[in-house]
Amino acid sequence: MNYYSLNHKAPNTSFKKAVIKGLAPDKGLYFPESITPLPQSFWDTIDRLSYSEIAFEAIKQFVSPEIPEDILKTIVEETLSFDFPVVKLNDNISTLELFHGPTMAFKDVGARFMARCLGYFNKNNTNEVTVLVATSGDTGGAVANGFLGVKGVNVVILYPSGKVSNIQEMQLTTLGQNIKALEVNGTFDDCQAMVKTAFLDDQLTSQMQLTSANSINVARWLPQLFYFIFAYKQLHNQYDDIVFSIPSGNFGNVCAGMMAQQLGLPISHFIASNNANNVVTRYLTSQLYEPKPSVQTISNAMDVGAPSNFIRIQEIYKNNFETLKNNVSSYSFTDDETREAMLEIYNDFNYVADPHGAVGYLGCKAYLKVNPNAHCVFLETAHPTKFLDVVEDVIKQEQPLPEQIQAVMGNKKESFVISTYQELKSFLLS
Ligand SMILES: *Cc1c(COP(=O)(O)O)cnc(C)c1O
Repeated sequence: MNYYSLNHKAPNTSFKKAVIKGLAPDKGLYFPESITPLPQSFWDTIDRLSYSEIAFEAIKQFVSPEIPEDILKTIVEETLSFDFPVVKLNDNISTLELFHGPTMAFKDVGARFMARCLGYFNKNNTNEVTVLVATSGDTGGAVANGFLGVKGVNVVILYPSGKVSNIQEMQLTTLGQNIKALEVNGTFDDCQAMVKTAFLDDQLTSQMQLTSANSINVARWLPQLFYFIFAYKQLHNQYDDIVFSIPSGNFGNVCAGMMAQQLGLPISHFIASNNANNVVTRYLTSQLYEPKPSVQTISNAMDVGAPSNFIRIQEIYKNNFETLKNNVSSYSFTDDETREAMLEIYNDFNYVADPHGAVGYLGCKAYLKVNPNAHCVFLETAHPTKFLDVVEDVIKQEQPLPEQIQAVMGNKKESFVISTYQELKSFLLS
């Protein structure tokens, strides 16, 4: 598959080059040249397919021929070595648990898939690749874990000092080996801006091969479309009108869901659920796209002021506002509403949700008010213990720590504090 730049000022390129580059030379995000819907027989026989078989069929067109089919089979099997259960709360609401991977955030799938693709492309290459990534919380841990020990790949993670949870910080600062964490005095948007500047710095990119592992990278972004098909497999025999509520920050996840829809997934609607960082919610009301600096919330992985994948969503709906509006609703919720929702989910359903999942739940409720016959699946994007302080404070119940979390607690934090782009550059060149 070839990819084009959404800024339309760079040559089209192969999957391999799109993965290695991350961003196109004209700063545009890459987008596949074509999307061929999966055959009806795929949807008709989905009950008999394993997760790996589904994933293989769904991603194949986007990565071939550069990743041969036998290699791709191994990559998806290794990537998906954990479960993706749907838990039903009531007849109208379910949650899709995406937190059973090694860092207990949904980003594990994209990070593991991308790491394996890059490892494959780089296997005979003596030039090292540096993965440079900004994180609002979960990307860092998932990328660190996914890329740990991958030959020929160095990982540099930028995170906003004091604005990620304790457990998240442990997950990205304690692994060592080929993983380095930079603690930035600033917000996630500052981290993201520094990463973007680095990609455009000719002096830097002439000396090292830099790539991104944020959802701007197609190998991180596209595998997320699996989730929606996995949920459909589990629910389609019970419900006709399945919709998804996606707690959204950079909008990579919801945009991947839209790609699944382009592949033929029979889903009628997406709900992009936001915290106070609600540029898309405002856009769908006013038709004005006005990014704002991000504000800090208890669902910190969604504290994004200028979502990078919005441009891909525009492309999917061919820049047609009406089509977009018919397919997507967006709601925004405050931290107080999020806390109330966490308590309600706990009291009414005996289920512990993390703050991001709770925002998704609120999106379902808002949508169901107007569409009472739908079955809404909210994505539980992180395990509740990743946000232990908030969760225990709200439900007044101590949470047992899962194995994956226990494994990093008490490890020694190693980070380098930086404040400016110049410091990042010196670090990378040293
Ligand atoms: C990254 C993240 C999100 C937001 O996903 P996007 O693809 O950036 O919209 C939501 N919840 C959690 C827990 C996350 O880590």
